[in-house]
Order: sequence, then structure tokens, then C-alpha cells
Amino acid sequence: MKTPYLSTHKLKLNSIVMKIKKTIADKSRISEIDFDNLEFGRQFSDHMVEMTWENGSWSQPEIKPYGPISFTPALNALHYGQAGFEGMKAFYYDEKTIHLFRPEDHQRRFENTCKRLCIPPVDMNSFMTSLEELIKTDSRWVPRKRGRALYIRPFAFSSEEYIAARVSGKYKFFIITSPVAAYYKEGFNPVKLTTTFNYVRAVKGGTGAVKAAGNYGSSYYPAKKAQEEGYTQVLWLDAKEQTYIEEVGTMNIFFLIDGTLITPPLGGTILPGITRKSVIALAKSWDVPVEERRISIDEVFEEDDKGSLQEIFGAGTAAVISPVGLINHGDRQIKIAGDKIGPFAKKMYDAITGLQYGEIDDPFEWVHKIHVS
Ligand SMILES: *Cc1c(COP(=O)(O)O)cnc(C)c1O
Repeated sequence: MKTPYLSTHKLKLNSIVMKIKKTIADKSRISEIDFDNLEFGRQFSDHMVEMTWENGSWSQPEIKPYGPISFTPALNALHYGQAGFEGMKAFYYDEKTIHLFRPEDHQRRFENTCKRLCIPPVDMNSFMTSLEELIKTDSRWVPRKRGRALYIRPFAFSSEEYIAARVSGKYKFFIITSPVAAYYKEGFNPVKLTTTFNYVRAVKGGTGAVKAAGNYGSSYYPAKKAQEEGYTQVLWLDAKEQTYIEEVGTMNIFFLIDGTLITPPLGGTILPGITRKSVIALAKSWDVPVEERRISIDEVFEEDDKGSLQEIFGAGTAAVISPVGLINHGDRQIKIAGDKIGPFAKKMYDAITGLQYGEIDDPFEWVHKIHVS
């Protein structure tokens, strides 16, 4: 490893100058990566960001070669799940410019996740400065082809080696990145969803509105059951009445009914998706009526019977827009839009990805440009 050196980088958001210690990997692994055969989340770029919370404060962020971290079996997070994460993407614009999509929104959501899990939040300046520096350091890892992206995974967890069930005194924060393929290789593949009466995802007062690691761990069993029955994912209903639609667990959900876009409201049990927020803003900018309101599974079936149900799609960072081809509920099924993406969902997909890759104007200022040398 080369001698670490200090690089200073000024963040535009405020004028705090932050020194980031940087250790460059001896040898890049980029030549080992087959960019034409990327598997989601399995290959990682050369470097990572690391911060440590000890004695009541976070250390300055450091950039280090990506690699194993060591801990003992008593690592607190492994026992009690005090761990949270974010997921966002970087897009190639040109040799000198990389785009991040709404990174400040992701930082703010990460702060909320940390607060809910009693993890000391990482402030905007440390988060953004270290993220920018990481992307600059590994800019060659941002895939160039349209559709591909560099997936960014910030996460934090309790790192005290202590197995008492109480708040930890030590935490780790990392940002790792992973080049990912275009989500849709040949056209869109509509997903098949099913409701379930036996399991719930989130309850009011729980952790459904934050990206807690444990939310995923506990959803695998119902998801596996759904997959065994031939469905892609579970369409979660509210935990109390099992009547109102919530979300898909990795995506928020939208219904286009009679020209109106309807999505369940954020009420503490639904993850406030950045893609969800972007879909709502774009639809409103096109003068499409948008309703954030409770929508029951029965209402969806009734609208389908009347012939008013036009499209259903999921929205999340990974797929951006994911058309829903089928919903199963008990012994009833709805089939939507053949096996294709609907025109509204397609327009939305084109608009969001067009903004992300810098192909269309960005009136919302959602794109954060990183200038690489
Ligand atoms: C991350 C996530 C989403 C989608 O959020 P985006 O910010 O759009 O990626 C939806 N539901 C859950 C449970 C999530 O964890």
C-alpha cells in the first residue's frame, strides 16, 4: 500500500473544508471485471469509505482499499441487528462528469434510519464529501453503457464486541460501491405479486419507514413462500386490517386508475422512496392528478372490474420503474397490460433515466454532478 496522503475537497453545500485520509490500492482489480456480465451486488470497486464512532464521536472519513474487515464473533450488530443502510446510484455522463441522483435526500433518509436504530447519524458534510471523494477515486468503475450504473451502498452498524442487548458504544460506517448491469436486458419483465394473510412487513411504530437491515431479514421467509407459489414478490397489506396496500418491500407501488395516479401515503409503515417522490413530482409536472391516499386491495379489484385500472408499477432505485403484470389476492387475480410495460410507466421510466444520465433538462435539480479529473 502506498503512503496515505491527505486530499482536501470543498463541498459546495457549506464551506467546511474536510480532510480525507486516502490510501490507494496497490493494484486495481478493474481488469478482472467483465462489465458485460455483471451480477447485481457481487463485484466491488477498488476503494471504500470508512468511519468509526468511538468515545462519543465519528472519526474523519477515510478512503481505503476495499477489502475484508475483521471482528470477533461477539460483534454486536450480528446478534441484535442494529444496522441500517442506503442504496443509490452513480451514472456516467462523460469522461469528466459523473451524476449522482438526489444524494442529499439519501443522506437525510440515512440520518432518519440511524436515529430510529440509535446509531449516531453521519452528518451531511462527512457523508457527501467522502462519497464524492470515493466516486472520484473509483470513477473508472462507473460503467459507461447507458442503463448500467455504479450502485452505492452506505451502511452503519454497532461494532462493539459485546453481546449484551443494549445500545453499543462503537459503530462503523462504510460506503462500498458495485458496478451493476442494466436492469432490463430485453424489454421489461412485469412482476407477479401476491398478497399474504399470514405475515406482515411493518406496523405503526415499528421500523417499516426506515432502511433497517432487519426489515429485509424478516421478509425473506414470506418472500420465499410467495416465490414457491410462482410470484416474484409479496404485495404487503397493512398489518392491522390487512386491507390497505402498502408497498412491495423493495419498491413503492403506484396505480393508474382513470388517468389518476394513486399511491399509498407515508404513514410510518411505508418506506419513503426517493423514486416514489420523484414519480409524484414528475406526474404533477405533467398535470397528471396524483393522490397519496389509502387504497384497499378490494378497490383495485373493483376498478379492474369496471375497466378503469390502467397500469400498476413499482418504483425503486434498483429497477427505477417495474411494471406489475399480475396481482394475486386469495383466490382472485388481476392481469394487467398483457406482458408489457404500460405507456405511462414507460414515459416515467424514460423521464427518470433521462434525467439520471443527463439526456434531458433537470428543472428539479435532482442531479448532483461530480467533476472527475
Ligand atoms: C429502499 C426501499 C424502497 C425504494 O426506495 P428508493 O429510495 O426509491 O430506492 C422501497 N421500499 C423499501 C422497503 C425499501 O427499503
